[in-house]
Amino acid sequence: MTALAKRACGPCTACCIDLKIVAPELKKIARVPCPHLSGKGCGIYETRPGVCREFLCGWRLFEDMDNSWRPDLSGILTMRRAPSEMPAAWQNAPYGMHMVVLTGQEAVLRPAFLRYVAQAMARGIPIFLSAASPYITLNEHVPAGADASLLKQRLAELYPLLNAARFGAGLCQRIRFLYRLQIDREYQKYLGKSAA
Ligand code: SF4
Ligand code: SF4
Repeated sequence: MTALAKRACGPCTACCIDLKIVAPELKKIARVPCPHLSGKGCGIYETRPGVCREFLCGWRLFEDMDNSWRPDLSGILTMRRAPSEMPAAWQNAPYGMHMVVLTGQEAVLRPAFLRYVAQAMARGIPIFLSAASPYITLNEHVPAGADASLLKQRLAELYPLLNAARFGAGLCQRIRFLYRLQIDREYQKYLGKSAA
């Protein structure tokens, strides 16, 4: 089934800059503008490659994301993940959302972000969060049923870990990041068992 866009990109060009593209007709690394990007958007729009024609970010796909979620405005680029693209533990979920932080911590502390993500997790939708770093499955680091306020507290702790492991950070920082995330996950499991 072909996904249908709910809205047009407008002036956003986030995916043309932030995503890695590997297709026969276009290859580019992440966080580098596509060579076809001009000051007025795609310079080859009418003949752009199929990979570009078919790509729909989450904001264009999910009607319940309001206009403040447009990636260049929100600092968050969302991509839908099919169950087959998700870790085994989440393959019974109807779909997942990979959210890439394009800007900084303010993007994940925005009230609209916190409300939307808390509601999605309450419905069992996994949220994979990355910031030019390895992703974390947010649901595994936040107590079940967390509201926007608790989510904000957890993200204020988790985001610096993601940021420490950003692309370009040293191997030591990445190892420390993964170690601390593991500790965090075990702690969350412990809290869950204590509450049961
Ligand atoms: S990130 Fe989404 S809204 Fe922005 S240019 Fe790409 S598809 Fe369009
Ligand atoms: S070819 Fe056009 S639509 Fe595709 S990534 Fe480059 S600028 Fe964006």
